Amino acid sequence: MTQPARAMQPEANSKTDYVRTYYAHSANPATARPALAGDVTADVCVLGAGFSGISTALHLAEKGLKVVVLEAVRVGWGASGRNGGQIINGYSRDYDTILGRYGEATAKALLNMSFEGGDIIRERIAKYNIKCDHKAGAFFAAFTDSQMKFLERRREVWESAGNKDLEMLDKAKAREVSATGLYIGGLLDKRGGHIHPLNLTLGQAAALESLGGKIYEQSRVTRIEKGKRPVAYTEGGKVTADILVVCGNAYIGDAVPELPSKFMSVSSQIVTTEVLGAEITDGLMPKGYCLEDCNFLLDYYRITGDKRLLFGGGVIYSGAEPKDIQRRLVPHIERTFPSLKGKKIDFAWSCNFALTLTRMPHIGRLSDSVYFIHGDSGHGVTTCHLLGRLTAEAIKGQLSRYDVFASMRNYPFPGGRAFRVPLTALGAWYYGMREKLGI
Ligand SMILES: Cc1cc2nc3c(=O)[nH]c(=O)nc-3n(C[C@H](O)[C@H](O)[C@H](O)COP(=O)(O)OP(=O)(O)OC[C@H]3O[C@@H](n4cnc5c(N)ncnc54)[C@H](O)[C@@H]3O)c2cc1C
Repeated sequence: MTQPARAMQPEANSKTDYVRTYYAHSANPATARPALAGDVTADVCVLGAGFSGISTALHLAEKGLKVVVLEAVRVGWGASGRNGGQIINGYSRDYDTILGRYGEATAKALLNMSFEGGDIIRERIAKYNIKCDHKAGAFFAAFTDSQMKFLERRREVWESAGNKDLEMLDKAKAREVSATGLYIGGLLDKRGGHIHPLNLTLGQAAALESLGGKIYEQSRVTRIEKGKRPVAYTEGGKVTADILVVCGNAYIGDAVPELPSKFMSVSSQIVTTEVLGAEITDGLMPKGYCLEDCNFLLDYYRITGDKRLLFGGGVIYSGAEPKDIQRRLVPHIERTFPSLKGKKIDFAWSCNFALTLTRMPHIGRLSDSVYFIHGDSGHGVTTCHLLGRLTAEAIKGQLSRYDVFASMRNYPFPGGRAFRVPLTALGAWYYGMREKLGI
């Protein structure tokens, strides 16, 4: 691939504006919101304007509550505005793992909520007329027979929970999804799909404001007080509310000292090619579905609304932003689509998500009036929308579905702050090696 000088430089994480990504480049117009200045009161204050925060806030505003959102940088600045855009149903762990770990009642209850996050996204796109390049269809691609077996089981379980939009594809059919000959088949979920994630976040933020919600940008919460009416402090002011919901995820920093030890900040990288045009992209991915493969360190890709290839993969367990994003990902693109050799990479970026030891999202309460959502473990487009709804339900007194998630045990990473990164990387190396050796 040709690598233009400017675009090949990794972008430092901007502290005041969007990081240079394809999404920021193609974002729908949105005026910058003011920073918080002075003292404000609300029914609910939400920290963080990503999927989790905006989803929670919008569910609550739809129920008639006065909601204020405090965002450190810009709406959708974090993972929600920089991810792969894939609407993937289910969770980071499959049903059988969840069953073995948490028992049948929890596993069944989680399974029954598996498809709700995607439904919320589609409902909101329709209800608020959000322009975010939504397309239906997500494909899980298999390299090996054991991965096919794993996907067969996923299909069986998901069908039992009412998803009838599933189809196992053989090698020839898989080629109609992705022209690469790499896969022996896979599982198509037409109830999955993909979106422009930043535009989805911006659209939901505008919907929140249309219902009277208030969003302050450039308003990093530096500390909170948990009392009966919690208070969130920023440099310019404070918000006092009946309830505070903390949704800072991997970027929370030190604002709420109890939270960072509950997850590890991990980075993943994405590149987009130059605009290729429909003639080329229809040849690469004729059906227009998104795709993720079944490897432990997976590749995920799709075609964007303006006909580029958007390709992501890999993780860095320290959460570091690598200097060589293109060098890491271009070989994966060329292995998948050799015909793209020589095409330019226009955008390359890195972003962090919050990984839990269980790989399950983590929600709960730090006090009667302080809630938190984090730990999507790289699988949050649907999950964050679901957890926003469940948190809104809990705040309104309906706890049954919320408690299914909130009662799942979460564990700190072994090794404490000093050793959790090397220990987790070692674990990942072990599983990656088993995959390579086919054991
Ligand atoms: C590269 C990458 C690719 C991914 N691809 C996919 C995918 O294709 N499909 C999928 O399902 N999942 C994917 N994910 C995961 C998904 O993006 C996340 O699960 C989801 O976006 C998390 O949303 P969030 O709102 O919890 O966190 P974020 O989107 O990170 O939002 C947190 C927000 O809180 C703000 N904030 C933090 N601290 C403070 C503070 N103290 N005060 C005020 N504001 C604060 C931040 O600025 C940020 O805007 C991907 C993640 C990454 C990193």
